[in-house]
Amino acid sequence: MKASIRQLQPYVPEKPLAELQRELGVKKLVRLSANENPYGTSPAVEQAVKNWSFDQANRYPDAEARVLRAAVAKRERVAPDQLVFSVGLDEMIVMVSRTFLEPGDQVLVSGPTFSEYGLHAAIEGAELVTVPTLANDHVDFAGLASALTPAVKMVWLCNPNNPTGTVESLSAIEAFIRQVPATTMVLIDEAYLDFVPDASETTAMQLPSKYENVVVMRTFSKAYGLANFRIGYAVFAPKYAPTMQAVRLPYNVNSLTQVAAVAALADQDFVKKTVAKNAVERRHWQAYFTTNGYQFDESAANFIFFADPQADELAEYLRQNGYLLRTGLRPGWLRLTIGTAEDNAELRRLMSEFKR
Ligand SMILES: *Cc1c(COP(=O)(O)O)cnc(C)c1O
Repeated sequence: MKASIRQLQPYVPEKPLAELQRELGVKKLVRLSANENPYGTSPAVEQAVKNWSFDQANRYPDAEARVLRAAVAKRERVAPDQLVFSVGLDEMIVMVSRTFLEPGDQVLVSGPTFSEYGLHAAIEGAELVTVPTLANDHVDFAGLASALTPAVKMVWLCNPNNPTGTVESLSAIEAFIRQVPATTMVLIDEAYLDFVPDASETTAMQLPSKYENVVVMRTFSKAYGLANFRIGYAVFAPKYAPTMQAVRLPYNVNSLTQVAAVAALADQDFVKKTVAKNAVERRHWQAYFTTNGYQFDESAANFIFFADPQADELAEYLRQNGYLLRTGLRPGWLRLTIGTAEDNAELRRLMSEFKR
């Protein structure tokens, strides 16, 4: 076994909801710990999946995902061959780590951030270097720039960042990229970009065409509500796209998933409604946290990161009452996925009721 693997802590995934609900003995259990879409999935996706002809079941899927590729390229204004699809954005994190890292390399992140970057750096024998966020939990770009060494082969920028929800401007990101050597990859994870109020001005989607060491990543798991289908993609510069196609397993994205993603992309009305409802609910939460004197980060995403002196006890109380929040990301802090209006109201009622 690789020495780098022997020391890893296995990832603890979310338990199936039905099983956990039985365990807790609650009538209803709402998962607000995984940043899933609380409004479900577009009905157009259900229809497209039902229309899929089962007589293709014994055939391999289209390895190039041609229909989906054309649709994404058109929407994001990139060349079709800049796109690489993956089994969720998670698989893209695996692929780029395998491709660009060797034992002894360094991977630079602003922390706290998504744990998968560090996990896959560790598997490749690379060292994770974390520059803490500023007091308001925004990225310390000056700190990141001064941590750049010849050993740094990858820099991850999660924008908006998970778990803080904070968003950085495109100009700040581009100014940072100009300080990064061309041999260091800058990976911009835009899993939550759809939720940003001025998403089209914030996205770095056009940067891989301008800087060949920049990669921009998206997923259908969050605003598009396709978490179960496992589909994400990245946009590479023309220099690296063919390399990535070589690393990728040829049939990684199955046909049902391709069909689902095409239908989801076509139903922008569903995405717009999801984003609009999330924005309204985000404002309610911000007002609640402000009124009740909580410290919280300014979120541009579908979750909020907030502090509570009894964070773990509060999370346990909410769990016993049917609501799951994400713990363990920073001592004394919890991450809450913004749910439906009804669930948010019930959750705020429970939080106000919690005996301290
Ligand atoms: C959810 C998430 C992903 C992975 O999503 P997939 O379901 O694997 O597409 C990637 N990055 C961040 C920051 C996320 O929160």
